[in-house]
Parts: sequence; C-alpha cells; structure tokens
Amino acid sequence: MSSRIAVVGTGYVGLTSAAALAHLGHDVVGIDIDANKVEGLQRGELPILEHGLDELVAEGVDAGRLRFTTDGVAAVVDRQFIFLCVPTPQGADGAADLSYIQEAARTLGPHLASDSVVVNKSTVPVGSARVVAAELRRDDVSVVSNPEFLREGSAVADFLNPDRVVIGSDDRAAAMATAELYSSLNAPIMITDPASAETIKYASNAFLATKLSFINAVAAVCEAVGADVADVVTGMGYDTRIGPEFLRPGPGWGGSCFPKDTQAMVRIAADAGYDFGLLKGVVEVNDQQFDRVVDKIRRGAGGTLEGATVAIWGLTFKARTDDLRDSPAIEVASRLLAAGASVTAYDPTVEPGDESKAVPDGVRVVGDPLQASTDAAVLAVMTEWDQFRWVDLHRVAKAMTGDAVIDGRNLLNPTEVRAAGLSYDGIGRS
Ligand code: NAD
Repeated sequence: MSSRIAVVGTGYVGLTSAAALAHLGHDVVGIDIDANKVEGLQRGELPILEHGLDELVAEGVDAGRLRFTTDGVAAVVDRQFIFLCVPTPQGADGAADLSYIQEAARTLGPHLASDSVVVNKSTVPVGSARVVAAELRRDDVSVVSNPEFLREGSAVADFLNPDRVVIGSDDRAAAMATAELYSSLNAPIMITDPASAETIKYASNAFLATKLSFINAVAAVCEAVGADVADVVTGMGYDTRIGPEFLRPGPGWGGSCFPKDTQAMVRIAADAGYDFGLLKGVVEVNDQQFDRVVDKIRRGAGGTLEGATVAIWGLTFKARTDDLRDSPAIEVASRLLAAGASVTAYDPTVEPGDESKAVPDGVRVVGDPLQASTDAAVLAVMTEWDQFRWVDLHRVAKAMTGDAVIDGRNLLNPTEVRAAGLSYDGIGRS
C-alpha cells in the first residue's frame, strides 16, 4: 500500500530513506532547511557520495514519487508519516544534542495532519519520543521511534536489505502502521516500547565500537608478542560464537556515529545511575589507538615529528564515503600538526582547495597519491581506499625522502612494500 511520507533532513540517513521509501512505492517529499542542498537535489545533484543513491533518487523523481523542498510547513499538511532524520550531534556534556529534533517538531507540529505519525529515525536517547511529543503539542499525532542502522558507503543496500527493522511506540496502531511501510522488505520487524528501541540503537553502536577497540587492543598485544593479528582474527572468526565481522584492526574508529553515540551511551547510563566503565574503556582504547599510530609515524620519521613531512593517504573515516566527520585520519593529522609535522594528504573525495570540506588548517591537500608522497619522510595509509593498493610503490619510494610506510589499515602487501625499498609497519602485523 502506498503512503504519503515527508522526510525531514536530507543528509546521509534522510536522503537514503526518502529515495528508498519512494523506491518501495510510497509518495515522498524530502524537506531540508539547507536551501543549497535542496536546490541541488531539485537539479538532480546529490550532496553526498553514496553508492547507488543517485540512480534511486532519479528513479523516484522520474516516477513522480519523490520531490524536495525547503517549505516543510506546506509539505507536511497532507502527510501520513513524517520521518525525522535531522542531526543529533554530541552536546557539550557528552549527551546527544536534541535541539535539531526539537526545532523540527516545534516548527512542523501545528501543521501536521490529524492522525499522522511522526517517526523518529535520528539516533536519540531514551525519553526522546516524549520530548518530540511535547514539542509537537498535538494529542492527535503519534510518535514512533524507528532507529536507523544503515552504514555510510552501503546505505542504499542496507536500507533495502536491513538485518532488522526496529519500531518503538506506546501506540500499537501507529507502530503497526509504520511497520507496514517496510512490509515489502525481507526483514524481521520488531515492535517494542520507545525506550527499548532507543536503547537498541545505542547498544548496537556501542557494541560494534567495543569490537573494534577490542581487536585494536589485541593488535597491540600481537605486536608485543610477535603474533599476526590477521591470523588471530581468522582463527577467532571460525568460532561461530565470535564470527569475523567488525574485527578489523585499524587506526581507531570514528565517523559521524560511533564517537557521539558511545559518549551518549556513557552519559545515558550515568544519568540513570550506572557507571558504564566498560564503554569508557572502549573510548579510552580508541584514543590510545590514535596515539599509537602517531607514535609509529614518529618512529618512522626517525624519532621526532618536529619538521618532518608526512604523507597521508585517505582522509574520510572509511572508504566508499565522502564523510570526514570525526575521521581517524583527521584526528591523526591534527596530532601530527600539533607535534610540528607538515602534512600533505590525498583523498579521492577531497578536491584540493575545497573549503567546504572539514580538513584542518595546515593540511595540504593534493590531487593524487604520488604527489602526496613527494618529499615525505613517512607515508601513512589512513583510509582503506582500494586504489591505494595499485599505486606504483617504486615511484612512491623514489618520490619520498624517507622510507617509512605506516599502514593504518593493513591494506598494502608488506612484501611488495619492502620490495620497493621501503620499510613497512602495519597494525598488529608481525
Ligand atoms: P546529516 O548531517 O548528513 O543530515 C542532516 C540533515 O538535516 C542536514 O541536511 C540538515 O540541513 C538537515 N536539517 C537540520 N535541521 C533541520 C530541520 N529543522 N528541518 C529540515 N532539515 C533539517 O545527518 P545524518 O548523518 O543523516 O544523521 C541524521 C541522524 O541519523 C543522526 O541522528 C544520526 O546519528 C543518525 N544516523 C546516522 C547514520 C549515518 O551513518 N550517517 C546512521 C544511522 C543513524
């Protein structure tokens, strides 16, 4: 059955949700306060890099099931469902900042159709369904919590093939109606109360971050005892109770979700009287991991970063996205600059001189990986872009003044790196 849906916020989650819901046959209007973004979308230009999303948006627009506007007040009047997909960044005290959600609910509340359902897809702490309801000031509108689990880089595929759909509401009819929107997907749909739905999202991200910090800590042990973390992960992963997923060592985790969601979970627990020491440790290990990478680069530069030139390959928080928010590469680059190094970086999604990208002042962005390596004492691989595997390492070795390669993603083949006359240091690799 086709429903009339408004999606508020057309970022990574909102734009993907809007296009995918249109693909499922619903009539969707995407609303954003960013006029540049909306004008671009109206011209068919996507503000983000996301595999398959441009085709899906074009399909929805061409079929007349998807449009975009800045005029949210006019757009919501005939909508049965209003999805909130606005940011919930980390506030000053670690808690999620709900001001975007509150602002959207306050602005749109008076204009919603009777019996419509506000579906909260943003990641929000326990109790937020009540916060949204209070801002809406509407007894005839229901609020449902429907956290999103998509991953940037595979957002479209994740939305259309989810492991599960979680819906939390005290209003059974509204929850069932929301579940119906997803009925054509081949996925378990779980209906629960709002607090459980909201906790499922934070607990899931906290657990994934825990796995990453765990394997980074194991990688440190591997380096100390002469084991190879790749073999350790393979050996662990055969155990069906453990599995191989999310046990890939790296330079530390980041991105637009894990850092803020782990902090928010620590804060939610503390506010409720529980000291989540385990999760604090997970965050602490991650911070140490950035330092461990910086230390490797320092050693590669001969013991000091003062005046050293470091090449960084990759700035996004992972491959297949253009998102730089809380990227480990940016964190490490900032620590290198603070220690007196010069940093030259290449990333396939960052144009040299692109002011709109959140690259720290002092990082010189260039247009190809070889150029980034030129005159570098150390080369650090920070994002697992596939193209880095195929760069001619002999040319890299010739271009560099030093010979150290620090592979923060265990992406390169150590034998090939050494064959090019360079030294190799990965994460947890013997
Ligand atoms: P984003 O920053 O990419 O997009 C948010 C959009 O909302 C922006 O375009 C902004 O202009 C718009 N906006 C802000 N206030 C608005 C308002 N009042 N009306 C209309 N538009 C408004 O954010 P995102 O990464 O899509 O994340 C959105 C939410 O989803 C967050 O709570 C996040 O934690 C959660 N989430 C994100 C991901 C992810 O991978 N990015 C995954 C799952 C959940």
